[in-house]
Amino acid sequence: MVAYGSAMASVLVVEDDPNVRTALIRELSVRSHVVRSVGTAMDALREVTQSPPDVVVLDLGLPDLDGAEVLKMLRGISDVPVIIATARDDEPEIVRLLNAGADDYLIKPFSIEHLSARLAAVLRRSVRSGPTAELRVGGLHIDLDRREAALDGEPLELTRREFDLLAYLAARPGRVVARRELLAEVWRQAYGDDQTIDVHLSWLRRKLGETAAAPRYLHTVRGVGVRLAEPGPRP
Ligand code: CA
Repeated sequence: MVAYGSAMASVLVVEDDPNVRTALIRELSVRSHVVRSVGTAMDALREVTQSPPDVVVLDLGLPDLDGAEVLKMLRGISDVPVIIATARDDEPEIVRLLNAGADDYLIKPFSIEHLSARLAAVLRRSVRSGPTAELRVGGLHIDLDRREAALDGEPLELTRREFDLLAYLAARPGRVVARRELLAEVWRQAYGDDQTIDVHLSWLRRKLGETAAAPRYLHTVRGVGVRLAEPGPRP
């Protein structure tokens, strides 16, 4: 079962294939989203500047600019959540784009149910707010309102997803969190690929200055999940 999420959103579809555009506009409109669409990267950048949407669905195969280039330019002007749509099932490229600021991705051809689920997840994350809350685990300090994290007083440059992952684990220090739980609670997916989680964990590890082989905060429990815990004194 897929939840469509409660919020109706303004969605900017960036897609040069008129058939795909028409289908997306129709299906998303049926689901109560307000949809605009453009067919080039330059038009997308102008739209985001002039009338920021809640979320962008970005086709990577556009006629005027390479997808990675578009994403970089988008990120230069806006924090709007971006879901990339790619015809290439190309793991390194997808990881590169997630790290460059994409929030999620879809491999073409994708179903409208799949897109709806991703939209709902991205929107839930971007509107999430609550009372002032801070988490501290050892030298790790996470400000949930400001969405800022620091390690030993040094700010961490985290992507949205890395922050969510870190915050989820830090709220449960010492507990082994199963991959399935992370997928459900951080990725908001009922099923998925362990590799997605592992890739994000490895980026997060790198930013925390540790490795899987020599962990300090992030401990992988083989076959089970991952645990965030206050490290012992440095040897
Ligand atoms: Ca295309």
